[in-house]
Amino acid sequence: MSDALVEGLLGWVAHPYGDSLKNALDTGWGARGIGRRAFLKGAGLAGMAAVIPARVTGAQETVPNASGTERPTLKAPPLACDCHQHIFDPVRFPFPRPGTESDATVADYRLLQRRLGTTRNVIATPKEYVNDNRVTLDAIAQFAPNARGLASVDPSITDAELESLKKGGMNGVRFLLLGGDAAGTINKIQTLASRVNEMGWHIDFGISADQIIATEDLLMKFPAVIAIDHMARIPEPAGVNHPAYAIVRRLIDKGRTWVKLSLAGGDSKVGPPAYTDVVKLAQAYVQAAPERVVWGTNWPHPNEATKPDDAMIFDLLSEYAPDEATRHRILVENPAVLYGFAKS
Ligand SMILES: [Zn+2]
Repeated sequence: MSDALVEGLLGWVAHPYGDSLKNALDTGWGARGIGRRAFLKGAGLAGMAAVIPARVTGAQETVPNASGTERPTLKAPPLACDCHQHIFDPVRFPFPRPGTESDATVADYRLLQRRLGTTRNVIATPKEYVNDNRVTLDAIAQFAPNARGLASVDPSITDAELESLKKGGMNGVRFLLLGGDAAGTINKIQTLASRVNEMGWHIDFGISADQIIATEDLLMKFPAVIAIDHMARIPEPAGVNHPAYAIVRRLIDKGRTWVKLSLAGGDSKVGPPAYTDVVKLAQAYVQAAPERVVWGTNWPHPNEATKPDDAMIFDLLSEYAPDEATRHRILVENPAVLYGFAKS
C-alpha cells in the first residue's frame, strides 16, 4: 500500500462523516483531486465508492472564501508562513464605514491553515477598517505567538500608539496606494517611515506597476525597509519585460526591499491551474533574490473576481522554487527575518 493510499484512508477514518462522493465531486474536489492522488490512480471510482462509502475530505476541507477542497501536493514545512492575508469580523468589529466584505474570521482562516499546512500568518488590516486595527490585533492575539500584523495608520500617529501596536504584534505599516496618489502619500509618510524604521518595522506597499514607475526616485531613497505586495502587480504578458520589474529589481538589489509572491491570479492572463505567466515572474524574483521573497495567499481574496484554490496557489511554489531549500527559505526563514518570528 502506498503512503498516499494510507494517508488517504487515514483521512477518511479521521473524518467519518460528510457528503457523498457525488457531492464531493460536484463541489470541485474531483476537478482538483482526481488524478492528483496516487491512491486514486489504481482505483476506479466505483471501486473506491465500494470500499469507502463516503468521500469526506471534500466536505471537510471546504474553506470559506476559497475554492477547491483538496490539500496541496506540496507539503508545507513546519513554521511555514502565509505572509499576506486579512481578517474581517464585522460582527465583533463593525466596519467604521460601510463595507461590502463578508466574514473572514480567525476560525475560517484556521480551516485554510489546516488545508495548506501553514502555521504562521501575517495579517494586514483591510481597508474597510480604515485605521482601526482592533480586528487585526484581536486575531494576532488568537493566533499568538504565530501571527504578526501590518497596521493601517495615519502618519500623525503618536509614538505611544505605535508602541502599543508593536506590543500587540504589529510589525509594519501598510499603505494601499492602488488607485490613489502614490507620490503624494509616499511624500507624506517620510517622517513616519523613519520612525517605523527605527522601531525595526517596515512599510508594506500595495502599489501598481505604473505607480512604481512614477515614484521610482521616492522609492529608491525611501527611509525604511519596503515590502511590495503581490509581485509588484506587474502586468502580463509583459512580466519581466515590463519597466516596473527592472525598478523593483534595482530596489531589491539595494538590499532594503522585499517582494511578496502573492495574488498569483491578480495579473495572470493564463490563470489556473498553470498560471504560467505569473510563474515566470515569480521564478525571476526567486532567482534574483531568494533572500528577499516571501509567499502569501491574500485570503479571503478581497477584490479577486473569483476566489482561487489556495492549495493550487500553494503548489505553485514548487515551480517558483523547485529547490526545497529555497522553498524553506521563502516559507520559513525569510518570514522570520521580515516579521520577527522566532527562528524555530
Ligand atoms: Zn490583500
